[in-house]
Amino acid sequence: MPASDSTTPPRVLVVEDEQKTRESLAEGLRLETWSVATAATGQEALGLLGREAFDLVVLDWMLPDRDGVEVLREMRSRAQPTSVLMLTARSTLNDRVTGLDSGADDYLAKPFAFAELLARCRALLRRPVVKTGGLLRCGDLQLDTRARVAVRAGEEIALTPREVDVLEYLLRYQGQIVTREMLERDVWKQTHRMTSLDNVIDVQIMRLRRKVDTDGTERLIHTLRGVGYRLGKEVE
Ligand code: CA
Repeated sequence: MPASDSTTPPRVLVVEDEQKTRESLAEGLRLETWSVATAATGQEALGLLGREAFDLVVLDWMLPDRDGVEVLREMRSRAQPTSVLMLTARSTLNDRVTGLDSGADDYLAKPFAFAELLARCRALLRRPVVKTGGLLRCGDLQLDTRARVAVRAGEEIALTPREVDVLEYLLRYQGQIVTREMLERDVWKQTHRMTSLDNVIDVQIMRLRRKVDTDGTERLIHTLRGVGYRLGKEVE
């Protein structure tokens, strides 16, 4: 059961051994009127998680005692459904995959802007806790929505968390037109922006397409000028 419903502020646990970072993160999140607890070690975090329910854990990977991956594995072995945003100075694909494999919901490489962290936290808090999972497919492209790993023609594609979100959305609506407005609303979760996200979305799709539709593969992500995008096989 979630620790809070939409009327109460989210309950967040910040796990970070570096005092200055921990305090500034906690302070920033409290300014959002969220309810924030902090832990400086993995052991302390697991203690708190055993006693209280949290909606979200912001979890540093490098901790002095039990590292973030160990904390995460322990949480998942206790079947705690709390969303976890993993922080790390590591940014290679292998580390990212390890983090996500251990059950992190998202991953943010240090250094990051606080606004970025906040956006990721918000997105995770909006996500339903129960994950449906499953494999989405189109031709030789497939996405494991639980492991968040995409494979094309047997080769894993290195995608950012946002690219996975976009690809999942396109796959769910495959064969249909996906407008920028749909992506803005359902993937970026923004409906009241003063400025349009069109450019951001176009760039994101361009990058995603470069990774998915590589040389020698059938083109799957199509642009419909002035309308939006469509993922699917070429229309005969
Ligand atoms: Ca650390």
